[in-house]
Amino acid sequence: MMARHTYENMGKCLCYKGACPTFRHNNLSKGLFCALGKRQPLPEKKGCPCNSCLVWVECGLTGLYFCTREILEEGGR
Ligand code: SF4
Ligand code: SF4
Repeated sequence: MMARHTYENMGKCLCYKGACPTFRHNNLSKGLFCALGKRQPLPEKKGCPCNSCLVWVECGLTGLYFCTREILEEGGR
């Protein structure tokens, strides 16, 4: 499952709102990585609050650290 890249979802994303130590530690920008996919270079994992995010719940996402993962299309493995 993946999230759609919409302004509404971007507004709900916790990545860039100070909640994520990985975002801060790696000086990431933007957010909504569950729709946009992983960053390069791959961020060092320092914690991920995605499962507290409304997008995560509403889109039925699984797993964390979308900024480090390949995003699979629905039906992908
Ligand atoms: S699930 Fe994670 S990457 Fe996706 S919108 Fe929420 S905080 Fe951002
Ligand atoms: S996907 Fe998770 S670890 Fe990566 S920036 Fe967003 S909240 Fe942080």
